[in-house]
Amino acid sequence: MKILVLNCGSSSLKYQLMNMQDESVLAKGLVERIGIAGSRIKHVRTGLDAVVRDTDIPNHKVAIKLVLEALLDPNHGALRDLSELSAAGHRVVHGGELFTTSVRIDADVIKGIEEVIHLAPLHNPANLQGIRAMMDALPDLPSVAVFDTAFHQTMPPRAFVYGIPYHYYEKDRVRRYGFHGTSHFYVAHRAAEILGRPVGELKIVTCHLGNGSSVTAVNGGKCVDTSMGLGTAEGVLMGTRSGNVDPSVMLFLMEQENDPKVVSHIVHKESGLQGISGFSSDLRDIEEEAEKGNERAQLAFDMLCYGIRKYIGSYAAAMGGLDAVVFTAGIGENSSLLREKVSEGLGFLGAHFDPSRNQVRGKEAEISAPGSKVKILVVPTNEELVIARDTRDLVGKR
Ligand code: AMP
Repeated sequence: MKILVLNCGSSSLKYQLMNMQDESVLAKGLVERIGIAGSRIKHVRTGLDAVVRDTDIPNHKVAIKLVLEALLDPNHGALRDLSELSAAGHRVVHGGELFTTSVRIDADVIKGIEEVIHLAPLHNPANLQGIRAMMDALPDLPSVAVFDTAFHQTMPPRAFVYGIPYHYYEKDRVRRYGFHGTSHFYVAHRAAEILGRPVGELKIVTCHLGNGSSVTAVNGGKCVDTSMGLGTAEGVLMGTRSGNVDPSVMLFLMEQENDPKVVSHIVHKESGLQGISGFSSDLRDIEEEAEKGNERAQLAFDMLCYGIRKYIGSYAAAMGGLDAVVFTAGIGENSSLLREKVSEGLGFLGAHFDPSRNQVRGKEAEISAPGSKVKILVVPTNEELVIARDTRDLVGKR
């Protein structure tokens, strides 16, 4: 069974063709600058060099056409005929409260994704464009939607309701939703496999740390709390997003700027590592400059580590215990310095860090000391694999 996994942004489209017999990646690629000058498709068949084609790509429909052409190419493609494709799996950012699991896409599902557009006005329309473009190109191909928010739908109300008048939840569905759910699900379950214990027995804090970051409490395989909220700026400090701020700070900014759009830009695009350091949103730059003695870079780094540590401690308390901490995504998988600085304060919880095991990048590893009660793990995320598996399972059912 071959499944095409698609992740459509407003101007980009990432894809991966998976062979579900052995869960291997046959080909993958990226379409960039859709609808913008300078658009191109970069395609890689596993084992071969990347092929880049610069061409006009005005919309997602043309993008999908180019992806299918690339997959069929006799030299660098991975399919002889499109009939080899069994299904498409789409990443959808927001499922609101409507979607608590992945679903096979039909007219009602499309309507549901449209209904929650106001919760993800930048992302859901792009996801829908991709879904529609794929359905237009291959009308008979079954497709599945996998939601970034779905894993977090098991949170109890005490974790997801905000302390503002309740009618904002009842009427407008203002609440914590959480994001990166597919990633948190994957790394929590993979951590249990690595530890050789049933996920149902474990209390795990998963730290998805990239340009966007979120920390999740996973108790018995289910999400019980997560740091991102209604939107994607709550929680720990991020590349350009603020993380937690007192509502009074937001009111101050509103009074100062007098324009919600400007304030939104400040907290989403000008804050975080970028805003504190004043020069970069990329942790590599921050670490490099901090090493040279740049105080603002050091402050940004310290704020990030401190924020993550606070979440780990509070989620351990929320779950009444802790068995494992998992680091994943760009920062979590690659920055040994950040993992060290976050972990070295966790000994009081029974999480003993081992610096000699921490020099790993982008691969699975245990970085806690032998015998540590709480295990500290690095687990590279694989959202595409979760999407492909859910797609296989849902398509196989009919
Ligand atoms: P992601 O959004 O998951 O792709 O993560 C991207 C972020 O990971 C980048 O902005 C960097 O800050 C961070 N990153 C990647 N490699 C490293 C590294 N070797 N050291 C520190 N940070 C890294």
